[in-house]
Amino acid sequence: MEGDYYMQRDIDLREISDGKLYGSNDMVKADCQDCAGCSDCCRGMGTSLVLDPLDVHTLCTGLGKTFEELLEHSVELNVCDGVILPNLKMAGEREACVYLDDSGRCSIHAIRPGFCRMFPLGRYYEGRSFRYFLQIHECSRPNRSKIKVKKWLDRPDVAQYEQFVGEWHYFLKDVQKLLERAGDDGMARNASMYILKNFYLTPFDSREDFYQQFAQRIEKGKTYFF
Ligand code: SF4
Ligand code: SF4
Repeated sequence: MEGDYYMQRDIDLREISDGKLYGSNDMVKADCQDCAGCSDCCRGMGTSLVLDPLDVHTLCTGLGKTFEELLEHSVELNVCDGVILPNLKMAGEREACVYLDDSGRCSIHAIRPGFCRMFPLGRYYEGRSFRYFLQIHECSRPNRSKIKVKKWLDRPDVAQYEQFVGEWHYFLKDVQKLLERAGDDGMARNASMYILKNFYLTPFDSREDFYQQFAQRIEKGKTYFF
């Protein structure tokens, strides 16, 4: 089994979760009642809030910005297992997400990225699919109440979204394994350039279905790499 980018590697799931795995129709004790008065998971997160192509498409569309403009302000690039990927930038002395406003609220709540929607849940991958787990040490709010996972994710399209998340995760995993085996810096650079160009820098058409466009790009990507 593998953890998501959000959880540290080689960590025992039993130590960081309640020991259960959840599907999107399950109830889970994740509801922190709108986080009122708390913004702990919007600060000090290092490079862990990795953005997938849908996150970047949603931010670009919602804010009317290009990916390059996001990179000037709120997003940075870092190497994640040999591949360069974007993540939300933590800035300033308080190491806070740029989108956290002065009153400690998310200023882009409606278009916040997938990891922000999911927290304190994480993803656990197995057999080219994934389920969710509850991170018991991450959210400081006591007495969280139960909520259905898909309601917590707050998306209209959970089935399609989960298919996309799995596809993207395993595509990256396969590329990362390929690069690890090859041990060739030039190949790793080219792979990162390909991924950045085709999944982040080249905008998705907001008038068309994102998932269909993504499916076409991932098929091309598989042909390119494998
Ligand atoms: S995008 Fe919003 S919810 Fe996510 S880390 Fe930034 S301020 Fe917090
Ligand atoms: S730590 Fe919990 S209560 Fe605080 S902002 Fe994060 S999810 Fe909300």
